[in-house]
Amino acid sequence: QTPKPAFKRVMLKISGEALMGDQGFGLHPPTVQRIAREVKVVHDLGVEICMVIGGGNIFRGLAGSAQGMERTTADYMGMLATVMNALAMQSALEGLGVFTRVISAIRMDEVAEPYIRRRAVRHLEKQRVCIFAAGTGNPYFTTDTAATLRANEMACEAILKGTKVDGVYDKDPMKHDDAVRYDSVTYDEVLAQHLNVMDASAIALARDNNLPIIVFSLDEPGGFRGILAGEGTYTKVH
Ligand code: UDP
Repeated sequence: QTPKPAFKRVMLKISGEALMGDQGFGLHPPTVQRIAREVKVVHDLGVEICMVIGGGNIFRGLAGSAQGMERTTADYMGMLATVMNALAMQSALEGLGVFTRVISAIRMDEVAEPYIRRRAVRHLEKQRVCIFAAGTGNPYFTTDTAATLRANEMACEAILKGTKVDGVYDKDPMKHDDAVRYDSVTYDEVLAQHLNVMDASAIALARDNNLPIIVFSLDEPGGFRGILAGEGTYTKVH
């Protein structure tokens, strides 16, 4: 008998870059499909799943403004990029028979549902994966903050942040062989030591609402399911 999953409702946050595979830019459909399969396995356990996907594989507001674009316009472009990623994930999940809704913080009714909190909760209760797109709908924020905001609104038990590495390290493990992974770390330590988990406003919002963040490797097959089964390596921020 399969043990009960550790959480009933979670927020899975992934960066846009997770969808680009080995390409330097954009969407790599086989990679999107691979992640969708990871999500389906957890969905099949009966876990209610929210997702927020970044947009950095297509456009980042800061990069645009560094090249002379007006910052808020560039940020709106970044938010639109997240909608494309959300649609790609929707397509991949539905291809596997998982029902989904893309819910946009910016109205675009032909493409996605508008965000109505109680409606989104209902979708979750009906086992639909809710993919929250267009960030918070506001410039100057990131999709990490959007994930934290929606996770709070949806009463998720944790944010599961899927990255390239299996947790939070004292320094970049891609660059330093002697980097040490934390099993657990507090929100305040993340903020004080500028550990690379999420941006400061997202961490503060999680801290103020006691929402744990679990950083794990999405490159590891079965990694997402492992977290729900209490297995594998990860860092818990709490
Ligand atoms: N963005 C924004 N407000 C939000 C969320 C995102 O303005 O609430 C914009 C911002 O320009 C950001 C871009 O969307 O650079 C893409 O999101 P993010 O950088 O968080 O993506 P990730 O790094 O996770 O791929």
